[in-house]
Amino acid sequence: MKVFISADIEGCCGVSFVAETHKDEAVYQTCAEQMTEEVLAVCQAAHEAGADEIVVKDGHGDASNIDPLKMPAYVTLIRGKSGHPYNMMFGLDSSFDAVLYVGYHAAAGNPEFVISHTSTGNSQYIRLNGAYMSEFLLNSYTAASMGVPVVFLSGDRAICSSARDMVPAIKTVETKYGIGGSTFCISQEQVLKELGEQTKAALKNVSACQLMLPEIFEYEVAYKDWKKAYQMSFYPGMESVDTFTNRMQTKNWLDVVTAHSFVVY
Ligand SMILES: [Zn+2]
Repeated sequence: MKVFISADIEGCCGVSFVAETHKDEAVYQTCAEQMTEEVLAVCQAAHEAGADEIVVKDGHGDASNIDPLKMPAYVTLIRGKSGHPYNMMFGLDSSFDAVLYVGYHAAAGNPEFVISHTSTGNSQYIRLNGAYMSEFLLNSYTAASMGVPVVFLSGDRAICSSARDMVPAIKTVETKYGIGGSTFCISQEQVLKELGEQTKAALKNVSACQLMLPEIFEYEVAYKDWKKAYQMSFYPGMESVDTFTNRMQTKNWLDVVTAHSFVVY
């Protein structure tokens, strides 16, 4: 079995402030080490459950958070940004049997996790066919476009719950939940234990987690800054809806991913 792990840092155990996710801050190191621990826990459990080949994509910031020297023999770690629009999913293709997400977080505009966002902090929210678009949603449609099931997600309570809404059979591990500016963090001991258990359960349940790709996509970005909205309204295929909002429609998933990789950055 060949599995792909896409990892972020905001949804990892304890992480509750933007500064903790930035490399140049002293508090960052602990969080990066925790991200490595969580990815390792999922890799080890996946290996025990029969994954003999695991590719991990470091998906946060400049994609150099996970410690490459801690990865086991059966893991290939993809560090750095290729520039390909698949971004956090770069390296995935139809030869994989399953996708697992580690350290994911609530979408832009979601008030249940203090550092919720989608890809960057530039949008108030993004909608895809009317639903608030998280990185989970974006990346899962990329997986669906290759026919690869999405079987597991760890992260804050809000993203776990949207993942289960979208893929009812997905296994999730909650690491925290937020109220206003505060974050209620589940212990590292508990999270690591559940990561192992739920990863194993997820890999027994792969075929139930196949997601269908819609036939048409309506992608809408509401920006925080109207000047950014104005500028990005000139992206090919994009139309201005109002002062803060642009929209595009397409039948081609790669068009959405490519537009997203330009217009919110
Ligand atoms: Zn991130």
